[in-house]
Amino acid sequence: MKTHSIWLAATLALFVSIGAMAESVRQGGLSLIETHRTDLVAASLGEQRLPVSDKGVVVLPVDMDAKPGEAHVTLEFADGSRATYNFNVEAHTFREERLQIANQRYVEPHPEDVERYTREAERQEKVYSSFSEMSALPFPMAVPTNGCRSSEFGVRRFLNDQPRSPHSGLDIAAPTGTPIIAPAAGRIALTGDFFFSGKLVMIDHGAGIVSVLGHMSEVSAEEGQLVDQGDLVGEVGATGRVTGAHVHWTLSIGGVRVDPEFALESPSSQVTGC
Ligand SMILES: [Zn+2]
Repeated sequence: MKTHSIWLAATLALFVSIGAMAESVRQGGLSLIETHRTDLVAASLGEQRLPVSDKGVVVLPVDMDAKPGEAHVTLEFADGSRATYNFNVEAHTFREERLQIANQRYVEPHPEDVERYTREAERQEKVYSSFSEMSALPFPMAVPTNGCRSSEFGVRRFLNDQPRSPHSGLDIAAPTGTPIIAPAAGRIALTGDFFFSGKLVMIDHGAGIVSVLGHMSEVSAEEGQLVDQGDLVGEVGATGRVTGAHVHWTLSIGGVRVDPEFALESPSSQVTGC
C-alpha cells in the first residue's frame, strides 16, 4: 500500500518522549520527523547517522529487512541533551516476480564479470557511504521520467528461476530516448557504464541521500556537476541487465535503500504492470 507519502507522515508526526509510541513506518519506507527544535544537531538510528535539517527535521529511512515492532531514534541537541523518538516498524509483504533474462551471463556472470561488478560496486559504495553537507532537504522529489511503473521497490526476484537480491529501486518504463531528470538538487557523484546498471548517474543530494538512475541509453551529466531538480541527466535506455527500456531509480539514505515512492509528493498507487 502506497497511499502514505512522507508529507502526510510529517504532519502527523509528534515529538514524543521516551516510552510513548508514535507513528508507523513501513519496512522499506521513509518518514520525516518534525521535532520543532532548531537546536537539533544530530540524530541516529542504532549505528546509523540520520540526515537532519536546520529546521529540526530528521529523515528516517527504514530498511526493508528491519525487524517489525518498536524502534527508536536518538536525538541530540546543541546543549548536549538527548531525547528519544519512538516509532513502530510496520511489516510489509513484498511481491515475488519471476523474470526471464535472455543473456545468461547476467544470471550466472563469468569470473571477469564478477571482478568487474565487484570493482563497480566498490565505487558506488563510496558514494552511498558519503555524508556531504546538505543545503536543504531534497524532498519532495520529482519522478525522474514520464512512463509507467513497471516494477516496484523490494520485489523478491527470481531470474531464470534462480533467487536473487530484492529489487533495490523503482522501475519506470518509457521508450528509449525519453528524457531523465534529476529527482532533486545535488552533485553528480559518479557516471559510468556498469555491468548490471548499464549507463548510470549517481546524484549526491547531501547528508548521505543518494539517487542512482540506471540503464540509460545516454548520460548527459558530468561528474562534479551541480544539478537542480528537473535538470536533464540522461535518456531512457536498455543498457545493463534489463528486459526492456526503462529507468531504474535507487534511493539510498545512509546506505539504506528505500522505496522512492515515499519521497514523492504524490506516490503512485499503481502496484505494477504496463
Ligand atoms: Zn530496477
